[in-house]
Amino acid sequence: MSDQKKIDLEQLRELDANDSLASKRVEFKIPEGLIYLDGNSLGPLPAGIEQRLQEMITQQWGQDLISSWNKHQWIDLPVKVGERIAPLLGAAPGQVVCCDSISVNLFKLLGAALQLNSPRRVVLSQQDNFPTDLYTAQGIAGLLGDARCQLKQVSSDALYDALDETVAVLMLTHVNFRSGAMHDMRELTRRAHDVGALVIWDLAHSAGAVPLALDADNVDFAVGCGYKYLNGGPGAPAFVYVAERLQQRVEQPLSGWMGHSAPFNFDAGYAAAAGAKRFLSGTPPILSMAVLDAALDVFDGVDMQDVRAKSQQLCQMFLGLMRQLELLPKMPCASPANDKERGSQLAFQHGDAFAIAQALIDQQVIVDFRAPDILRFGFCPLYTRFEDIWHAVHRLSEIVTSGTYKQEIFNQRGAVT
Ligand SMILES: *Cc1c(COP(=O)(O)O)cnc(C)c1O
Repeated sequence: MSDQKKIDLEQLRELDANDSLASKRVEFKIPEGLIYLDGNSLGPLPAGIEQRLQEMITQQWGQDLISSWNKHQWIDLPVKVGERIAPLLGAAPGQVVCCDSISVNLFKLLGAALQLNSPRRVVLSQQDNFPTDLYTAQGIAGLLGDARCQLKQVSSDALYDALDETVAVLMLTHVNFRSGAMHDMRELTRRAHDVGALVIWDLAHSAGAVPLALDADNVDFAVGCGYKYLNGGPGAPAFVYVAERLQQRVEQPLSGWMGHSAPFNFDAGYAAAAGAKRFLSGTPPILSMAVLDAALDVFDGVDMQDVRAKSQQLCQMFLGLMRQLELLPKMPCASPANDKERGSQLAFQHGDAFAIAQALIDQQVIVDFRAPDILRFGFCPLYTRFEDIWHAVHRLSEIVTSGTYKQEIFNQRGAVT
């Protein structure tokens, strides 16, 4: 502690004054006085959304009605929005489409990958992966049976050794939703390919938060979320990445009409569309997709390397203040200590993490709790200020030191935690 320079409020204000991303904050509508450290669960409202939605409803839906499918190119939205997400993923055009949820898209990708790599049947994943990823694999295993799909879950540090010639697909989340631990995508993909396995990466906590290089890293498939760091609003559609080299040979099991090569021929037989479009299934949610499209405007002109640099600095300041106010090691940090090994979030453990999160929310610091004992702080450099970090840690310190979180009102759980 003694050899570390004390962090003061002036220093943080100076970082804000010199922050090249500071001007992005006005592109969001964040309620006055609120410190929002939960953009990794639901991104805040970008400023341009209300107008876009108003136009969609009044003119496109209200006046132009069904002609809007052509007139306003509704039919092209899944591809158009996919192409706007692609640069954030390090993906060349023609490989990303916007559709459905991560869960539904994982179902398609797992089905596709298992078929490509048959007769191998092992889906290798991580024990503490996000549950929906595991549930989806369990569902596929139930459908296909043991002979064609077997889910194998190992701990994070056992992944390299578990990658052998039996593995059909390595399915991992790049940034762990609880701890923020980030995998080495390039190394694990290379290792998987060395043993003849395909890879599916879940980018829920990566897209829009950390620089990605799916093409350069030789990734096969990926999915990601529209409502977290991409700020597309509650239930925003997700996205799918399919490497170009696989597109013509890959088939996916949710073969709906939007993925057909000529949906309006109404042929009785399925014929997959060319390219990533074959991963579409049903009619896209046009209003939600238009919102995500408008939300992506905030990434115009943003260099993901700048986002990464600020995110690491925000985390360092947060950790520095946690130490300075002696919250560490009282609330041990459950995230990797090394910046390079974590995404854009920090997790701390405490037996009363739920109540502490509620008390913080009551103090206008929005964070979340992840069962069983994690208090999670997400840092989105497009709108989080260094000064916010100061107030967040000081309010946390007050809550923990005074014990106010023990009050009954902070211990009542709703359906969503
Ligand atoms: C948020 C999240 C999801 C969400 O999946 P949906 O099916 O889109 O609701 C999936 N995977 C991870 C790792 C997540 O963090």
